[in-house]
Amino acid sequence: MEKVIIIRYSEIHLKGKNRGYFERVFIENIEKSLKGIRHELRHRSGRYLVENFPDGECENICGRLKKIFGIHSYSVGLKVKADMEEIYAACEKLSSDSGTFKVETHRADKSFPLNSPQISAEIGGRLLSAYPKLSVDVHNPDFVVNIDLRENATALVFNRFYNGAGGMPVGTSGKGLLLISGGIDSSVAGYMIAKRGMSLECIHFHSYPYTNLQAKEKVIELTKILCGYAGGITLNVVSVTDIQEEIHKKCNGEYMVTLLRRFMMRIAERVAENCGAQCLITGESIAQVASQTIEGITSSNSVIKKLPVMRPLCGFDKDEIIERSKSIGAYPISVRPYEDCCTVFLPKHPVTRPKIETVLAEESKLEVEKLTEQALSTLEVIQL
Ligand code: ATP
Ligand code: MG
Repeated sequence: MEKVIIIRYSEIHLKGKNRGYFERVFIENIEKSLKGIRHELRHRSGRYLVENFPDGECENICGRLKKIFGIHSYSVGLKVKADMEEIYAACEKLSSDSGTFKVETHRADKSFPLNSPQISAEIGGRLLSAYPKLSVDVHNPDFVVNIDLRENATALVFNRFYNGAGGMPVGTSGKGLLLISGGIDSSVAGYMIAKRGMSLECIHFHSYPYTNLQAKEKVIELTKILCGYAGGITLNVVSVTDIQEEIHKKCNGEYMVTLLRRFMMRIAERVAENCGAQCLITGESIAQVASQTIEGITSSNSVIKKLPVMRPLCGFDKDEIIERSKSIGAYPISVRPYEDCCTVFLPKHPVTRPKIETVLAEESKLEVEKLTEQALSTLEVIQL
């Protein structure tokens, strides 16, 4: 009888011909995440099993598995031979000696002499005779004993299904460049896209010395949170101080955020081209703030030449975003006070529905290409 962690995968099984590829990446991601913990990972007829790990590491392993996209659910259980005596011994081990229970059997191995209801009845009956304080409640039991008979003459016995992160294995959907601020939204946006199998690279814009170094530290920490889900991430840090000063000097202050956003998108697209990212990702959500009206989004989007821009939070309310931010562990970092470069030189009344003609007229007062190049020359690359 061996303690195992049973992993069930989510959408990978849908991927027909590419299945082998998806599974390979999936395994690689699990192995990377379990690095440093002794274990064996085995693929056994539609399940992955983590075996031979030190008992004290079980919780640690589960904590890491929780963050791996592609995992539908997992369970901690016992692996035994598909033999009624061994199965019973495992079930007994996972039972309490009092309370209500039910036995649930899933039989992938149809050659096993008993069918699922017969197995459940037999094991349930034996538990009842062994422990008089136990009783059966099939609707609302205190605990469930699950028996999963696999094709390779193995039975897996466990109590609970824990939800995995779902989604697709990171790395199977290409790579996206996330515009990450220190706010709540962008890290959640990165999480959502990584969940669909994209690996991430990040870019952050700062206005040092108008913004302080803690703002950068905060973004590094948020990126590290994303690393827990998406693997290693390269963080590009670019100064937009000169751009903001120029806008401040030469343009109508009401257009500060609108114009700055256009520079951010331009710079991001160039960095994306250099690093092989196939799309940009932002944390914009329609109508959330003044710069995120459809006119504001149109204005910033129109500088993009080739790449699609993913805005996974577009249809989310703020409280939905906050909930997700909390569940991924980013929230306590995101709410630390800091100055974003967008708040530097912030006008009292930023334009909320910028007309594109006016935006272009304001922008024509600037040396756009030179400022873009200048900003790119400040690029600092941090591997996380
Ligand atoms: P967030 O919480 O992600 O900062 P927000 O609601 O504050 O979002 P804005 O400040 O309008 O919204 O920013 C919209 C999006 O633009 C952000 O989600 C992010 O993708 C990008 N962005 C804003 N500021 C920066 C920055 N300093 N560096 C990189 N990207 C940024
Ligand atoms: Mg922000």
